[in-house]
Amino acid sequence: MSDPTSTTSFLPLDALFNNPLFAGGIGLAGLGAAAAVARRSAIRGASLIKRRLLVDVEVSKLDSSYEWILAWLTLPRPSGGFIADKLGRIHQMSVKTAERPSKDGTSFLLQPGYGRYIIRHKNAYISVNREKQSTANHNTGEPHEILTFTTLYAYRHVFEDIFREAQLLARSAQEGKTVMYTSKVAEWERFGPPRKKRPIESVILDKGIKERILADVDDFLARQQWYVDRGIPYRRGYLLYGPPGSGKSSFIQALAGHFDFGVSIINLNERGMTDDRLAHLLTKLPPRTILLLEDADAAFTNRRKAGADGFQGMTVTFSGLLNALDGVAAGEERIAFLTTNHIDRLDEALIRPGRVDMTVRIGEATRYQAAEMWDRFYGDIDHDGKGRDRFLDRLEELGIVTDASGAVKPKLPTSTAAIQGLFLFNKDNMDGAVEMAEGLIPRIYEP
Ligand code: ADP
Repeated sequence: MSDPTSTTSFLPLDALFNNPLFAGGIGLAGLGAAAAVARRSAIRGASLIKRRLLVDVEVSKLDSSYEWILAWLTLPRPSGGFIADKLGRIHQMSVKTAERPSKDGTSFLLQPGYGRYIIRHKNAYISVNREKQSTANHNTGEPHEILTFTTLYAYRHVFEDIFREAQLLARSAQEGKTVMYTSKVAEWERFGPPRKKRPIESVILDKGIKERILADVDDFLARQQWYVDRGIPYRRGYLLYGPPGSGKSSFIQALAGHFDFGVSIINLNERGMTDDRLAHLLTKLPPRTILLLEDADAAFTNRRKAGADGFQGMTVTFSGLLNALDGVAAGEERIAFLTTNHIDRLDEALIRPGRVDMTVRIGEATRYQAAEMWDRFYGDIDHDGKGRDRFLDRLEELGIVTDASGAVKPKLPTSTAAIQGLFLFNKDNMDGAVEMAEGLIPRIYEP
């Protein structure tokens, strides 16, 4: 049997270790390994320190606070305390242009660009990282984004302060304004910058109508507990119908402003609006907004069309609309307004408590409305009201409004929008308005 140690003859270890090159190599390898271990421990140590000492707050683009925080980040800070230049005042901005320009021009917003910045807020240094994610919103195709704030654990309370400030900033920017949302594919998107609130007094409906609806909404908003106690979904629906230009949309917008709500608008006639999309949008309704479903008759017209050719294309169906309206209301109140120019195309099934609780016709201009509108436009120059009387007499003569007793239906009624147009054309000129009253007669009259 051979002696196992005899194998040394094959591995001349001593010789090897005595070789300075080899020993040096081992030494280097050892050092390398030690460095790797040290590096790993340093990383682990750093991440431990980070975990212990630092605190992160992530804000996703999906959260409603994202926009306010971005807006807060762009605020110029007093006394250069915000970001020392060395640390990087936010030099890199990106521009976000409103996709639907407002009437007064295209609006844009400066936002911090992508990347990492250091900011200072009340003695705390905070690292802010705005990054795009590799995933995208499959409805809009836009990449997800995330804002990460990191600061020392000891300064964690600064976040509450920042979020509160950002929220106040967002609120103050919206004070006296009505925020409008519209559906973009399957998401809600702000429709232009917040609009100046429309005073409710500026919308003139026939006697008592405005007051009746306002009182109903007021009562609804005061009764949350009543609904909760009875296990009834906390929602209320209104249907406004009547010819175009009678002030339906203006009234809903003014009402929203009056109760400090925004408006979320869906046009049921919009291309690509399907039952699924509608239901999805209603479950994600922006908080504290009034839902406005315009052209509610579209769903009913579609039903008829679908019945005729047996095919239901990319549209909202009658049952889709009912299901969406019946959909579970979240804890928050839900106020829905439906509008239509064609009440005759609607179906009884819609007028059911919870879907539509109140139906109101907003019709052609009445004598009362014409008088009220006159006072709003010319009240300060028509001191004795004689101009108004002349105007009303002329409208009566033309068959646009009834006589004072209101007994006979007017032959050629017109819209309040047309009266407004006449007054706008004759700003500060009452005589001109009386003379041109004939122009109010609709050219094409559809009874
Ligand atoms: P609708 O929604 O009934 O078609 P809108 O609210 O869009 O009518 O009105 C169109 C325009 O006419 C708006 O500029 C609005 O200010 C004006 N208008 C129409 N009706 C009234 C009204 N009853 N009171 C005040 N303004 C009105």
